[in-house]
Amino acid sequence: METSVLIVEDEVAIVTLLRYNLEREGFRVYSTGDGEEAVAMVKDCKPDIVVLDWMLPSMSGVDICKQLRWSPETKTVPIIMLSARGEESDRIRGLNAGADDYIVKPFSPAELVARIRAVFRRFRPALSEKTLGFAGIKMDVAAHKITRDNVEVHLSPTEFSLLRYFLEHPNRVFSREQLLDAVWGHDIYVELRTVDVHVRRLRKGLDYDGKQPDLIRTIRSAGYAMSEAASDGTIEEDLGDELKE
Ligand code: CA
Repeated sequence: METSVLIVEDEVAIVTLLRYNLEREGFRVYSTGDGEEAVAMVKDCKPDIVVLDWMLPSMSGVDICKQLRWSPETKTVPIIMLSARGEESDRIRGLNAGADDYIVKPFSPAELVARIRAVFRRFRPALSEKTLGFAGIKMDVAAHKITRDNVEVHLSPTEFSLLRYFLEHPNRVFSREQLLDAVWGHDIYVELRTVDVHVRRLRKGLDYDGKQPDLIRTIRSAGYAMSEAASDGTIEEDLGDELKE
């Protein structure tokens, strides 16, 4: 089956250019310039990925992104946000709204295709059929299902891949660079702070009732680790380092 992309953008010239290039790469392309229609189309057409422009006439891309992340039906669809706003604070805002990646306009269609493929690598790596677990967290990789103490937890694709990487290597400390390489891939430029945003979203996602112990440790000047030991002397905690919202 063809991989499908929904382009949400009101500028016809951009849609035409992206459609042409994506179809040439073998993607099936849907498009709309309307926010509400976009949300309905994600439910109806079930695209494999959404390319979402920030600036739309009816509803902002950030609001659409939040809405897609809110509904269990659309929560797991990967989202790449497009924007002319290249400030770091805007990127962080886009990622905080739930986007998996962020591309600053102007960009080339080839870059978008590379980013789409990178997102797919990140959340569908070789479709392995295994179950991973740690401290009450269970991940069925093939079914894309996560439970914590038998309660189902919903994560967006990037958080899923990040959690998977931690579950595959518990009690090991990874630098932000190592996590970027492992989860995002080498060929994509992503700011290190992006890792902090996704770690925070992962923590939030795993804490399904606001009472769960945090298993992801922030290690001073080193990075992050998944560990049950709160402070056993081997892992130094430093939550002061974290990105504030
Ligand atoms: Ca636009």
